[in-house]
Amino acid sequence: ARKILIAGNWKMNGLSGQLEEVRKISEGCSATMGEVDILVCPPATLLRTVRDAAHSDLLVGAQNCHAKEKGAHTGDISAEMLRDAGASHVIVGHSERRADHSECCATVRSKLVAAHRAGLVAIVCIGETLEEREAGEALRVLESQLENSLHDDVTAGNTIIAYEPIWAIGTGKTASAEDVAEVHSHLRRRLVERFGQETGTSLRLLYGGSVQPTNAASLLSVADVDGALVGGASLKAQDFLAICEAA
Ligand code: 13P
Repeated sequence: ARKILIAGNWKMNGLSGQLEEVRKISEGCSATMGEVDILVCPPATLLRTVRDAAHSDLLVGAQNCHAKEKGAHTGDISAEMLRDAGASHVIVGHSERRADHSECCATVRSKLVAAHRAGLVAIVCIGETLEEREAGEALRVLESQLENSLHDDVTAGNTIIAYEPIWAIGTGKTASAEDVAEVHSHLRRRLVERFGQETGTSLRLLYGGSVQPTNAASLLSVADVDGALVGGASLKAQDFLAICEAA
């Protein structure tokens, strides 16, 4: 059975004076952590601080990495550096990176390779725009992103997929349970076709986009939803813990 993962993506939020929420999450989720994996992804500046402040069972990850190990790339951070700073996971291909930094699937794939080179577990994000959904193109777009963002050595141990419809991110609109079920079962079939029955059925598929304490239980009860990638609601310990408890 696939273990549920609740992941918090803090995006560009968090200063060292605000670590009380992490301590609350860390204390509050110690009971849940056996059954559910819980991950927080603070900004890179806080990785070490959060790692040191958190319970050892709380997973800590980053939000992006560079494809190269080191070199002349001013301002960038390699997967090796993230690991050195205490991360075990890294998000790659978030739609905000794809949009703000023109990251294409080939770039995302090279970051995935880098994450695996450094021994990090990667969360690969895919998602369609509202126009694509309304044009009936969602499944085709997602399939293409899935195909082109992954490399052939993906395993259930080193990779997690997150479906985040762009129109549901930060908007308060969530995809319906039916839409999520359709997408996740489609992605599951594609993963089994590409990676075989064992890996294909073991890879975890998260849903992200306006996950809240109020809708978490119903989204997490959808077949083939193996967890959530939470943005806004991960910034408040009370909300994030309520989502973890709904799992
Ligand atoms: P919200 O939960 O704020 O909609 O963000 C989702 C997201 O982008 C997580 O990566």
